[in-house]
Amino acid sequence: MAYRLTMVGTGYLGATTSACMAELGFEVLGVDVDAEKVARLQAGDLPIYEPGLQEVLRRNLANGRLRFTTSYEEAGAFGDVHFLCLGTPQKPGEYGADVSYLDAAIESLAPHLKRECLVLGKSTVPVGTAQRLADKLARLAPIGTGAELAWNPEFLREGFAVKDTLYPDRIVLGVASDRAEKIMREVYASMLELGTPIVITDYPTAELVKVAANAFLATKISFINAMAEVCEAAHADVKQLSLALSFDDRIGGKFLNPGLGFGGGCLPKDIRAFMARAGELGADQALTFLREVDAINKRRRNRMVDLARELAGGSFHGCTVTVLGAAFKPNSDDIRDSPALDVAVKISEQGGRVTVYDPVAQENARRAHPHLSYGDSALEAARDSHVVLLLTEWQEFVELDPEALGAVVASRKIVDGRNALDAETWRAAGWHYRALGRP
Ligand code: NAD
Repeated sequence: MAYRLTMVGTGYLGATTSACMAELGFEVLGVDVDAEKVARLQAGDLPIYEPGLQEVLRRNLANGRLRFTTSYEEAGAFGDVHFLCLGTPQKPGEYGADVSYLDAAIESLAPHLKRECLVLGKSTVPVGTAQRLADKLARLAPIGTGAELAWNPEFLREGFAVKDTLYPDRIVLGVASDRAEKIMREVYASMLELGTPIVITDYPTAELVKVAANAFLATKISFINAMAEVCEAAHADVKQLSLALSFDDRIGGKFLNPGLGFGGGCLPKDIRAFMARAGELGADQALTFLREVDAINKRRRNRMVDLARELAGGSFHGCTVTVLGAAFKPNSDDIRDSPALDVAVKISEQGGRVTVYDPVAQENARRAHPHLSYGDSALEAARDSHVVLLLTEWQEFVELDPEALGAVVASRKIVDGRNALDAETWRAAGWHYRALGRP
């Protein structure tokens, strides 16, 4: 059967999933409460930066398979499977996740359900949320729609979102009935035909897979950054240490790059929400190590500020600092909990004049931090600078010519916050080169 899909919430996850499921041949309707976002998407103007997504969006708008709306009434009448792609941010002042957007979406959608349908949660949630939302859906949906919930956590990576959505490395599905499993096997048939592994399980296991995966990834990053702290104390080189570890295929080299640590809209809030939820369940001791993972990650940002201050001569007063990068990682415009901007703000608060440049996250950064200065290119941002900090490893920064940059700065001092540059090349060009975790 040719199912019609709605995507409720058209942010990073929902916009990507909308366009990619239309690309796979489904008729898709994206629904969002943000009318401006809906208008932009409908006009083919992607509100986020995600490589390759704009083309997929435009192609499927043009062929008529993809539309966007603010109307839940339209969504209820249209969809056979309603994907929930709502944000679940950290609650202000707490560790726990705010799942109220999911509740609001179900409350808005359920009364408008007209056809037999499945509601599919994709957001990252505290374990137990799916069962609670399933009960709510059963209470609010009109009798006869058979509306039920399934949970299908999302693992896409910003910067690789199109590929990750079309060719996921696994599908995890928490279901309460064979019917839900059958529908989702049909929806994901093209992926299953390619041999994509699928794990069919219950709601709580499906919810936990996602946060467990993010807890593992965060731990791996903080592990190598803890090693960087020891290397700094022991005058050892964490980059060589990490390279040597990576050849052990039980360890592997991915997520083992020492540097400024993780940020973004997922890992930091997900490990905190995981700790909070484990506490509510009486299992808080199981996750106390994540507190340390979070603390190690935050300490890297402070260490970065300390290194920059050291290069500035002990104080930022009267000093111009160039920050290369604002996005939390390259190939994204996402500045949520961005380590680069955190460092920029801390230096500015300590009296430094900070000029930021990012190839795509510049406008997001400017809106969030209008008090910082911005340059239109790396060279312009670095003009007359006393210290340059490379904080997001965009390829154009990795390829910077030390001579060209050296010609515009006031002094050739750089901290490589991502261990992305070749130290010898920069030192040979007369730069005072420092990096996290290296002599
Ligand atoms: P986002 O903030 O970019 O998008 C959320 C969207 O929901 C926004 O467009 C917002 O306007 C809309 N919205 C809010 N309330 C609504 C309502 N009542 N009805 C309809 N729309 C509403 O968030 P995101 O980054 O897309 O993340 C969504 C979820 O996916 C989160 O749980 C996140 O943890 C998870 N996730 C994100 C990624 C990622 O890379 N961004 C990857 C995997 C999982």
